[in-house]
Amino acid sequence: MALSGAKVVGFDLDGTLYKNTPEIDNRVRMQIAHKLLNKCVSLDNINSARDFFEKRYAEIQSGTGVLREVGYEDASATMDDCLANADVVNLIEFNPELNEILRGVNSQYVTYILTSSPMNLSLSKLEKIGIADIFDFMFFGDNPIGLSKSKGTAFDYAINQIGFSGEDYIYIGDRLNSDILPAKNKGMSTVAVWKNISEADYYIENIKDIGELIL
Ligand SMILES: [Mg+2]
Repeated sequence: MALSGAKVVGFDLDGTLYKNTPEIDNRVRMQIAHKLLNKCVSLDNINSARDFFEKRYAEIQSGTGVLREVGYEDASATMDDCLANADVVNLIEFNPELNEILRGVNSQYVTYILTSSPMNLSLSKLEKIGIADIFDFMFFGDNPIGLSKSKGTAFDYAINQIGFSGEDYIYIGDRLNSDILPAKNKGMSTVAVWKNISEADYYIENIKDIGELIL
């Protein structure tokens, strides 16, 4: 099994280390509505932007697809940005069980966070979950050199900073284009969480199951 030789374990944050709820989803959709408003002059306020999103989403079943339709070229990165910047800190719950499991992971592997969420917001979310002090490395979305997860440059940077080669890594995430595909392209073993992604090497139903998979 590829996982048995791994040395480094990386985690996405949003929608991975906590599960998205309907209210979190609602706040993400408001972020998307703001993005639509920025691109479409015909949408004159946030409510009409949100209505437009819901209508198109019902038709094409892809939020990234709606962003692409209105002219966002790197729509996966734009979606990642919406997920990362939605104001969800007060909706995230303390997870002592995950804390214990991640401590176990950290005792056997080098661990890191690779997120598009900016540093301050990320730390607030991690503190809410109770895991802010666990990881060996953390890479945030507001890095000064414009690293992108969906383009893969953020994964290159993490490998560069941490060491080892891509094959020595495991990456756990909830999205195909900003987690699973770019990590896989660097040779990492990939784990989808909460919802299966067929392109991922492994799938766990709950983030807490990561212990059973790799420990
Ligand atoms: Mg995510």
